[in-house]
Amino acid sequence: MNKQLLDYMNEGLIIFNKDYKIQFCNQSISKKLKYPKKELVNEDIGKVVNEVEKIIKESEKASDISIILNDYNRRLISSRGRIFREEWLGGESYWLVIKVYSEEVTKAELEVILDNMPYSIWIADENNQYRYMNSQTRTMINGFFLKQKIENQDELVKQHPHKIYQNKIKENILEKDQEVLKKGIMINEERSTRHSEENLPYQLVKIPMFEEAQGYKGYIGIIEYSILKQKVDITKVMADTHLEDLTAQKTFYSQLVQLLEFSITASKVLQEKMLIILKYNQQKGVVEELGRLRKGENKFVSHYCLSISKEMLLEILEESTAWEVKQFEQKTGCHLESDLEEGEIHCIRINAIEYNNEFMGAIFTIYPATLQYPLMDAHIINKICQHIAIIFKSVEYSVELEKEWSRRKVLETESTTYKEALKLETLKTEFLANMSHELKTPLNIMYSVLQTFEVELKELASVHSISTSYNKLMHYEEIAKQNIYRLIRLINNITDISKIGAGYYQVKMVNCDIVKEIEDITMAVVEYFKNKELSIIFDTEIEELEMACDPKKIERIMLNLLSNAVKYTNPGGSIEVKLSIKAAQLVISVKDTGIGIPKEKQDIIFKRFAQVDTSFTRKCEGSGIGLALVKSLVEKQQGKIKVESEEGKGSTFIVTLPITRNEEALPKINIDREEQLSYKCKVEFSDIYNL
Ligand code: ADP
Repeated sequence: MNKQLLDYMNEGLIIFNKDYKIQFCNQSISKKLKYPKKELVNEDIGKVVNEVEKIIKESEKASDISIILNDYNRRLISSRGRIFREEWLGGESYWLVIKVYSEEVTKAELEVILDNMPYSIWIADENNQYRYMNSQTRTMINGFFLKQKIENQDELVKQHPHKIYQNKIKENILEKDQEVLKKGIMINEERSTRHSEENLPYQLVKIPMFEEAQGYKGYIGIIEYSILKQKVDITKVMADTHLEDLTAQKTFYSQLVQLLEFSITASKVLQEKMLIILKYNQQKGVVEELGRLRKGENKFVSHYCLSISKEMLLEILEESTAWEVKQFEQKTGCHLESDLEEGEIHCIRINAIEYNNEFMGAIFTIYPATLQYPLMDAHIINKICQHIAIIFKSVEYSVELEKEWSRRKVLETESTTYKEALKLETLKTEFLANMSHELKTPLNIMYSVLQTFEVELKELASVHSISTSYNKLMHYEEIAKQNIYRLIRLINNITDISKIGAGYYQVKMVNCDIVKEIEDITMAVVEYFKNKELSIIFDTEIEELEMACDPKKIERIMLNLLSNAVKYTNPGGSIEVKLSIKAAQLVISVKDTGIGIPKEKQDIIFKRFAQVDTSFTRKCEGSGIGLALVKSLVEKQQGKIKVESEEGKGSTFIVTLPITRNEEALPKINIDREEQLSYKCKVEFSDIYNL
């Protein structure tokens, strides 16, 4: 067996004999165990491998077993491998093959990791001379600190900060370095530096390196720019915004200024050529450019020229977040390159601005194709996106808040107007109630005077023979009385309708035989029908029906419907009052063979002050209150009213009332019923015809 060949093996190999003495070990394993190769030969295998016997046993069953090794520094190393028997130098030996994992990170790998950290990291030796700088440090030093740019990396690392730094930076950066290097005091401070009139805050950390034998050897320095961890306190943004200033525009721009100041500061450390901020316009469904910021310019220019549909942007984002500008332009039809130098290839990187998964806009970063997009930039852009998302959201909230504010103001005014209107309405109702009382008092006096006059006249006539002047006087008296009834009806209707409108009208439900009630009312008006040469039929499917209703309101309803039937039916016609029960409802219909109501007017007649014929030439008197009142009275008793009518043929008013009983109600008491009914008929029928 060629020993040299065994040394080439990646796996570690230890050969030991039956006495457990090591006979050979290859390069891999001696390196792994940090032993000089030769030193291991003839050593006891137990010195480097734990529980050998157990491993040998296990190896007979499994091909891959766990192995614990001891290295030169007595550290335990866990690994895997197997043991098999093989000939070595003429005798049978154990061959232990161990998988060797490289635990060391190569210098190149480490550099990649450090270059992609979002911090500036460097190492300085005990003389404060640079030994290592990651790429962010190199960018930072070249960009901010040096008297003259040193692009060459090796060149830069060899420098001593005292020699290369600008004087004012020197004091700031190197201050306290001696404390770190000589006394091992760690620095962890918030600082800021002025650069191109800009204040750039940062966190500076210097960690001393200490070695027992040699004391302090140097330090590791870290800089984190505060802008990278800057967060906008939304409550503060909101608190700073005065409600009065909350017009969408003003708020938006004040927020935008904050945003731009931030972006300008942030872009100092970015390597991109241009940064474009776009906002999603929900109404239009497009993502629109707010403005762009070119590298080296401290101005945010509002172009408002880029516009791209949300769907398209999301689609290209899904495909890739980084595009070559030309490719991007072809795909979207947008033009970006007008600002970019001719002949150079540029790339565009798209970052979505999101707030709690809600799409709010995007940031386009344009950078030279030669530059590999640094992680540091990605980190900053992400931060800017978060920042902008909060600003966009707070603008949205402000606008919403402002809308709510003005809505409340309107509501407040409306409610004041409503309250005033209500107060006015109450006053009006009170006034009407008072007025009706005031009007009715003299009317009642006139009415009683007329009645006395009538009695006196009749007595006079009985004493003296009936004369023509008596008839004339009686006729005048009739006219006066008729007009008093009309006035009383009008006043009653106006008072009642306004009371209903203001919600003051009450119904008093009692249990009574409604069939008898309606029959009585119909009979009481027979006289009026005869006078107008109309026939009247009362037809009922039910003999008797005890149910809860307000008899006074039933009277008003029936007298109104009947007087209308008489009013709008020509002599010779007929009127039918019919009672029936349908689906547990009492149906009262009043049918006439009168002039009828045109279809389009059938709804409005139940509205207040509505009349079908509004011309001055109309034949019948009326105020247009009657049916509105009837409808309210029916509804107050949980009933319904409708009309079926055909012009020239007649109308049928149908009232349906629920058949219920009011257990607590007292039965109806009839006192002077006939007399009262006769008076009410006179009032309700007062405007049927002119005397
Ligand atoms: P009015 O006091 O004017 O009669 P109503 O409210 O009682 O007021 O009626 C409203 C309008 O409905 C009337 O002006 C009339 O045009 C129409 N109307 C009511 N009842 C009838 C009917 N039976 N036949 C035809 N038209 C009617």
